[in-house]
Amino acid sequence: MKTLTARQEGFAVAVAKGSTKADAYRQNYKTDGWSNEAVGKEGERISRNPEVAQKIMELTARKTETANGEFDMTVKKLLQTYIEIAFTDPNELSRVEVGACRHCWGVGGEYQWKEREYAKALDTWQRQHHAWDTKAPDKRGDEPQMPEPLGGFGYRFTAPPNPHCSECEGRGLEFVRVMDTTKLSPGAKHLYRGVQQTKDGIKVLFGDKDKALDSIGRMLGAFDDRLRVDLKGAVASLQLTTSDPQEAARAYQTMLTGASG
Ligand SMILES: [Zn+2]
Repeated sequence: MKTLTARQEGFAVAVAKGSTKADAYRQNYKTDGWSNEAVGKEGERISRNPEVAQKIMELTARKTETANGEFDMTVKKLLQTYIEIAFTDPNELSRVEVGACRHCWGVGGEYQWKEREYAKALDTWQRQHHAWDTKAPDKRGDEPQMPEPLGGFGYRFTAPPNPHCSECEGRGLEFVRVMDTTKLSPGAKHLYRGVQQTKDGIKVLFGDKDKALDSIGRMLGAFDDRLRVDLKGAVASLQLTTSDPQEAARAYQTMLTGASG
């Protein structure tokens, strides 16, 4: 096979990249003063040169191969994302936990304080009592009562409930815990859709697990034999008629939609 000249090679590359033959010719040859018709004719002639035609075919095939490879990667990534959404434990994002009530571990079943809380309550009481004390006796009302420390200190809401607690009967108190979203696992990152501030507090938003499961089923061909993606991520039954990955993705999407109908 004859070696292509630099101009012929440039022409082949331009055509493989999608230029018209006339444009490819203009980009690689001197055409000053030529009519469009003349340029078109020459472009046509060069493209019929067997070596040039061979080169264009090779380059186009390589481009399609690359596009297919990229497309397979996109499908693989998509499948992986759906798998993570479907199978990541939602507890990684927010959970309901149960801890001790105030009486579970209080001395004699009495109300148990946190130290700092009690100091604050005591401080408030002292101020109220002082105000009460300085009022005229006929305007005082009831004397503020000192906070009761009988149940003792060291309350921890994360401690397990006391099965013998007479107040909660061992059920404890449930509290909702939102996890630190800056420290999520890769799977949880896909499941996490942000938070919403509501009047009742923070609402954690989740990806749709049912929809993800459904998508996995469809991608693996569980519902339809027309579409089958093997686990290595290769698209087996999908015939690519285009080398443009975006167009391929659109075609693929259309097939997915079609498969569900
Ligand atoms: Zn209790």
